[in-house]
Amino acid sequence: MIFKQLFDQKSSTYTYLIASAKGREALIIDPVIENVNQYVQLLKELNLNLVKVIDTHIHADHVTGASKLKDITKCITIMGDHSPANTVEIKVKDDEYINLDTLKIRAMYTPGHTSDSYSFLMDNYLFSGDTLLINGTGRTDFQNGNAKDAYNSIFNKLLKLPEETFLYPAHDYKGEKVSTIGKEKKQNPRLQVNSVDEYVEIMNNLNLKKPAEIETNVAKNIRLGA
Ligand code: FE
Repeated sequence: MIFKQLFDQKSSTYTYLIASAKGREALIIDPVIENVNQYVQLLKELNLNLVKVIDTHIHADHVTGASKLKDITKCITIMGDHSPANTVEIKVKDDEYINLDTLKIRAMYTPGHTSDSYSFLMDNYLFSGDTLLINGTGRTDFQNGNAKDAYNSIFNKLLKLPEETFLYPAHDYKGEKVSTIGKEKKQNPRLQVNSVDEYVEIMNNLNLKKPAEIETNVAKNIRLGA
């Protein structure tokens, strides 16, 4: 398997490139529009054919490269079925599988950060979007975010995965690249709560600044960055 974790400096976004082998089909998760040329170059170097691109949710802090990648490579755009983006070609449902050569990627509906947030599981690699971060969790204060839904998605879905599952989030602001479900269960400060109410209390009192350019980013992302 080919697996590349790519980083966007400006928005601290992780983008993932996956393929079963050199010269085969590839998939990209959460591309950033400014880095599309870099992805295309990398695909060329690895002799990969980009067939699918996934956005885990409508992002607020950067513009997706999905449309631009589609224009260049004719790949299929994918999001979860709660996405407000009308031009997405395939909207997957909870527990539906996405095929990539011999690889199978399971879609998991994990609302809370936004109402359209999905996570994606490939073997023991979890791409959690902004639902579960390393030592943190995605904020729940815009785009129909909901702290109670986030608690359910995290505690009743993602943390039920085997402890050795690798966690690959959509962002990290401190240079962390990967964790595991087991590590997060033990160490993530947001997860050391005894009840859903305690979690909601924390999330509703974060008092974070809104991301810069959230309105324009969301408006563009609803059109997949076109
Ligand atoms: Fe987000």
